[in-house]
Amino acid sequence: MAILYNDRLTERDRIHVDIEDRAYQFGDGIYEVIRVYEGRPFCLSEHIQRFERSAEEIRLQLPYGRKRLEGFLQELIAKNRLKDGTVYLQASRGAAPRSHPFPDGARPVIIAYTQEAPRPLQFLEQGIQATLTKDIRWLRCDIKTLNLLGAVLAKQYAVERGCQEAILHRDGRVTEGSATNVFLVKDGILYTHPANHLILHGITRAVTIEAAKEEGIPCREEAFTTDSLFRADELFVTGTTTEISPVISIDGRKVNKGTPGPITRKLQQAFEKRI
Ligand code: PLP
Repeated sequence: MAILYNDRLTERDRIHVDIEDRAYQFGDGIYEVIRVYEGRPFCLSEHIQRFERSAEEIRLQLPYGRKRLEGFLQELIAKNRLKDGTVYLQASRGAAPRSHPFPDGARPVIIAYTQEAPRPLQFLEQGIQATLTKDIRWLRCDIKTLNLLGAVLAKQYAVERGCQEAILHRDGRVTEGSATNVFLVKDGILYTHPANHLILHGITRAVTIEAAKEEGIPCREEAFTTDSLFRADELFVTGTTTEISPVISIDGRKVNKGTPGPITRKLQQAFEKRI
């Protein structure tokens, strides 16, 4: 299995992680997960663009530009003959003696590897169960950083309750899921949290909003309350590996009739056409 290590493709067991890598000690780095359908990366340029933005926001200087990175990832997919799966891409600020400020002279470390993964067909068809929990993360959720402890704890909370996703709220306002964006349908209108510092600006979220526009479904980027979740006509979450997954219950309470709704189905079909 080939991996990308800085500016070359190599075998996984040929490289090692330095114990003083800042990704390892501080979560000082950024990442992306890119979906591959039938050998083709989906929304690759959008992911690379977000990767570059995340780098800029944490003041990490990437060693090479967009075109080269895209080329390496395409090469990696081809070399590993990946058909359906994901590419994980990460940049760390590099290895240096442990100290909080940016180190002098450390070189960023880029890695990427592929993983085979089927589409989540059962969840797409039948929907998922969610639980509601407090959003305890920091205030720059728009940066896709390696600091994922808030998301890890939220997802574990969900798993321990037999759920597939945790829906997060700040003071009663729904922000997003632990690894997804959240959409609510009420009276034919789609609602989702605005793309500000409190959520990750999901690429699947953007594709969904665009699809809604084309389907003539009005979409408002407005925060909604946790109470409104329980009065929703439909609810779904979006993400690179989750696609558009209907949410059929929250903390054991059915969303509407407890089955995926017609607008969710319409958007799933529109999404399917794009992949
Ligand atoms: N929100 C969070 C916190 C995430 O971690 C993710 C994806 O990992 C998303 C939303 C969905 O983003 P995307 O559609 O770009 O995968």
